[in-house]
Amino acid sequence: MTGGQCLERHVETITRWIIECERIVAFTGAGISTESGIPDFRGPQGVWTRRDAGLPPPRWRVSPGRVEPNPSHLSLAELQRLGKLEFLITQNTDNLHRRSGIRPELLAELHGNGQILRCLGCDRLYNRREVRWDTNRWGPGYRTQEPVPGQPACAACGERLVSSVVNFGDPLPQKELELAE
Ligand SMILES: [Zn+2]
Repeated sequence: MTGGQCLERHVETITRWIIECERIVAFTGAGISTESGIPDFRGPQGVWTRRDAGLPPPRWRVSPGRVEPNPSHLSLAELQRLGKLEFLITQNTDNLHRRSGIRPELLAELHGNGQILRCLGCDRLYNRREVRWDTNRWGPGYRTQEPVPGQPACAACGERLVSSVVNFGDPLPQKELELAE
């Protein structure tokens, strides 16, 4: 069997599973976004693969501002539209699932989302754009950074807003974990 035939078989199998099953839960990681130009971690040119080989980090194939959802993101959104995809769990922080049309209430972003800020007081979420977060002035807003005077605060409780991205040493978000489970 050639590689192409083998791939075709896999596609047929997966298609049959999708048709026959009632409910699908998808779990995605960095691999789904490589096609959009974002490097993964453990692929042949991944961030950790290259680091372990003593190489500099991989280059992004497109600039971060021009990243778009790819056919894999769009096909999951289509499965959701058809009522097949019951829930989507992702480890990605690149916002591409939301941008492809996945409904936020049917999505658990286990490692947060680079575009979303979280209030340390009341857990309310804000889009960076909504609060006019200026990354040049206030940086990425990680929890472990010193807050910078003048940075936006929570409109509801006045507490500090931090990036929702989960870094090494940060706990996983409780609500997202429960939803995923
Ligand atoms: Zn708040």
